[in-house]
Amino acid sequence: MGEESGMEKPHRYPVIFNPRARSQKGGRVMRFIESHPDRLVLHPTNYAGEARELAARFAAEGEPVVVAAGGDGTLNEVVNGLVGSKTILGVLPAGTMNVFAREMGIPADSLEQALLVIERGFVQEVDLFGANGSPFVQMAGVGFDALVIEETSWGSKKMLGPLAYLLAAVKVLGEEPPQLEVVCPDGRREQGVAVLAGNGSLYGGPFKLFRNASNHDSKLDVLVYKEAGYRLVLDSLRGLAFGGVDLLESTAYLQTSEFMVHSDREVPVQVDGEWIGRFRQVHFIETPHRLRVLAPEEPFVGGFSDAVKSLLQWPRRPVELQTTRTL
Ligand SMILES: [Mg+2]
Repeated sequence: MGEESGMEKPHRYPVIFNPRARSQKGGRVMRFIESHPDRLVLHPTNYAGEARELAARFAAEGEPVVVAAGGDGTLNEVVNGLVGSKTILGVLPAGTMNVFAREMGIPADSLEQALLVIERGFVQEVDLFGANGSPFVQMAGVGFDALVIEETSWGSKKMLGPLAYLLAAVKVLGEEPPQLEVVCPDGRREQGVAVLAGNGSLYGGPFKLFRNASNHDSKLDVLVYKEAGYRLVLDSLRGLAFGGVDLLESTAYLQTSEFMVHSDREVPVQVDGEWIGRFRQVHFIETPHRLRVLAPEEPFVGGFSDAVKSLLQWPRRPVELQTTRTL
């Protein structure tokens, strides 16, 4: 921790890791970091917000690279700490969904491969947007999906992964939906019951929800759901299946670098899957900063082969769990 790195020593990357956000990958990630002491220095966090503080401290000290080991929540905290600095973000994906890693083409299922990406040193620049001042790199939501995050337990998220959001959405559909209005600076307006904003194209896992999105075009892709109820869930599923939620009559699709959401009541808001509060007005705007991320030039093609590999490895899992317990 905080030791002087002599000029003669090779540089070691500080790795910020939340040992309490223990997805199945948690123990494996910790052992991976500890098994590369020549390249990685583990900085475990002890409380919410510490990942952000650590990242900000490393950035202030002029650390060239800070690695976030975790899921989208840890990542969002580290990004918060790096905003406005020159420090580059490295990612060791260790969460349930790893949406941002997938978006950037960082291997989400192989820590060894993800470390190779960091060491290759290729930097991609990504737009950074904020919702009521909270920065995010991947996506944000106003209304039902944030409500789901408010209500979804860690346990069911872990068990069900991305599906947890849609299943939990069904649970909250009984509520009277809010009346939202999206207003763009150029005068475009859309009314609806829920709003999703994508910096990247992926949402809630490997789902390409914002099919025209690019995270380096200075614009957010905005989906406004006009109808509540089961229609919303069915449309989302149908849209994901056919690759165009925006083509449905029950949604409006906008691209804009700034917009306001006005609501008839306080509605929950999430950024990068993290609940940030309830608001009647939400201002989305591009920050003057861009995030620099170590990512492949060409996205890593995982998917099917990784899925097969993880199936083939399943008998080893009980052993891993025992090892985890002794940590
Ligand atoms: Mg964009």
